[in-house]
Amino acid sequence: DTSLLRRINAYCWEVPQQGAMRVPGRLFGSGALIRDLDDMVLEQVSQVAALPGIVRASLAMPDAHWGYGFPIGGVAAFDPDRGGIISVGGVGYDISCGVRTLRTGLSKEDVLSVLPELVDLLATVIPAGVGRGGQLRLSGSELDDVLRLGARWAVAQGYGESRDLEYIEDGGCLSGANPEVVSETAKKRQQDQVGTLGSGNHYLEVQYVDAIYDQAAAFAFGLKEGGVVVSLHCGSRALGHQIGTDYIQILGRAAQKRSLHLPSRDLVCAPIDSKEGRDYYQAMACGVNCALANRQVLGHLVRQAFAEMFPLARLELLYDVSHNTCKVEDHDVDGLRKSLYVHRKGATRSFGPGRQELPAAYRGVGQPVLIGGTMGTASYILAGTVESEAMAWGSACHGAGRAMSRKQATKRWKGKSVLHELEHRGILVRAASQRGVAEEAPGAYKDVDEVVESTHHAGLARKVGRLRPLACIKG
Ligand code: 5GP
Ligand code: MN
Ligand code: MN
Repeated sequence: DTSLLRRINAYCWEVPQQGAMRVPGRLFGSGALIRDLDDMVLEQVSQVAALPGIVRASLAMPDAHWGYGFPIGGVAAFDPDRGGIISVGGVGYDISCGVRTLRTGLSKEDVLSVLPELVDLLATVIPAGVGRGGQLRLSGSELDDVLRLGARWAVAQGYGESRDLEYIEDGGCLSGANPEVVSETAKKRQQDQVGTLGSGNHYLEVQYVDAIYDQAAAFAFGLKEGGVVVSLHCGSRALGHQIGTDYIQILGRAAQKRSLHLPSRDLVCAPIDSKEGRDYYQAMACGVNCALANRQVLGHLVRQAFAEMFPLARLELLYDVSHNTCKVEDHDVDGLRKSLYVHRKGATRSFGPGRQELPAAYRGVGQPVLIGGTMGTASYILAGTVESEAMAWGSACHGAGRAMSRKQATKRWKGKSVLHELEHRGILVRAASQRGVAEEAPGAYKDVDEVVESTHHAGLARKVGRLRPLACIKG
């Protein structure tokens, strides 16, 4: 329980190293957020701390809540030279789920007068809902190209502009992807899913900037008060999920074969330096590329819809960042530069100024960190920090984080009344499922303002701008 925590400062708490833990745990968040934390999160942070080759600490971001294996909001780095592992539960089933935000160049006033037509048009052109297919039907070899090339494939097919690639993490394509280690089942399930939003908490939202906190960063990101942006949140769809399912089995057998002593069955993993570990990394990279291609195609559909209603508008990609990944990154460890496998599960990369991975336009202020709130509250755009690189391998929160399970939420709310209340407040929602709306009711999440304040004061990322929803397409 939380009474065992050692306070490092007002926004950082240590889970002391004990039992099988190889390193301590570190939780970020205000006293109030930490007090309300589910005991399961503490247990999961401690279990991750017991995994082989973990470096420095097992971390949880201020939006942390229970997840499969790692908590959602969990971050951990592993050293391949010290028996470090790679874990399916450290990435999550929706590989490379993430957020893409486009600037529209339009003002809130421009959009408000046609908002009902705009949201209906977006709901028509964006395929959303469980298993709903898209326009594309890809052959086996085309799908392999998607997995190898990510958003580069999409741009080559005419979805979007080559300028977009610079504003996607990893230039739109994570290297190391190998479609040969992805099952036929996974590929089959994806054939009509590229360019679809999916279900649940995946969304496409029209938002306006209602507060700016950091003028210099806002200028670099092209944000100004009253400006309208579009954010979309989705991932690797059926493919990522199937890769997760397949590799839980494969890594489970690998762990058994090596008699790897695991702190929990949900934490199946393999040494980074093993056949199974390498295969999972290569498959996971395919999942990342699938998600990047997916968001690139969706971004194109958004542009087409806006072009119909606002022929003069030019939608520019602000940034596209994932929050379910394992990535090979260089970080300082005890004064040495080391290449580590950083797992971020429900956590956003938050690289600060100077990192060569960032596009030139953002290198002076840090990368955009795109945070969803809920369809009824604020969302945020933050900037990465150098401190975060020292404290958390350059990571920050990814959303508000659930305060209760989906099941609890459906007991508490009815989709219909949630929609009514939002409409009353001027927020137009088009949802594929009423049940989904209840599951995603704003009250089912933590207070995003508190989570973002904590992220800011902990130094994990800096507040740049706050967004308010105008319209939301829900999966
Ligand atoms: P996850 O990646 O864990 O599935 O969800 C990320 C975050 O998205 C959640 O923690 C939540 O704060 C946010 N979110 C869920 N639904 C919506 C929505 O409809 N609109 C916005 N802006 N954010 C949402
Ligand atoms: Mn997702
Ligand atoms: Mn997500």
